[in-house]
Amino acid sequence: MSDCLFCKIIAGEIPAEKLYEDDHVLAFKDISPQAPHHFIVIPKKHIVAPSTLEESDDALIGKLFRAGSQVAADLGIDGQFRIVINNGKKAGQVVFHMHLHFLGGRKMGWPPG
Ligand code: 5GP
Ligand code: ZN
Repeated sequence: MSDCLFCKIIAGEIPAEKLYEDDHVLAFKDISPQAPHHFIVIPKKHIVAPSTLEESDDALIGKLFRAGSQVAADLGIDGQFRIVINNGKKAGQVVFHMHLHFLGGRKMGWPPG
C-alpha cells in the first residue's frame, strides 16, 4: 500500500528504531511511547485490522505474538507487559495497518481508556 505509514517503514522509506525483523514480521519502537517500553509489532503483509483477517493469516498472527514476546524478553520485560490492538477508528486505531502495541516497564491500570 503506497500510502500506508507502516508499509513505508517496512520498505525503509521512513526510518524507525527496529528491534526485530524477519521475512514476515517487523518490530520497532513506538515514536510516542506510552510506557517505559513501548514497541509495535506488524506483519509485513498489509492487513488493515484483526476484523479483516483471513484464515490464511492464522500462522502469521502467531508469529506476531511470538516475535513480540521474544523482543519483550530481550528488553527484560518478559512475562510483564500489555498487548493492545486497536481495531477501528472508534477504538483508537490511527494507522490502518494491523499492529500489536507491546507496553511494559510500569504498572498498568484497568479498565483501559
Ligand atoms: P494506533 O493508534 O493506530 O493503534 O497506533 C499507532 C501508533 O503508531 C501510535 O502509538 C503512534 O505513536 C505510532 N506511530 C505513528 N507514526 C509513527 C512513526 O512514524 N514511527 C513510529 N515508530 N511510530 C509511529
Ligand atoms: Zn501497510
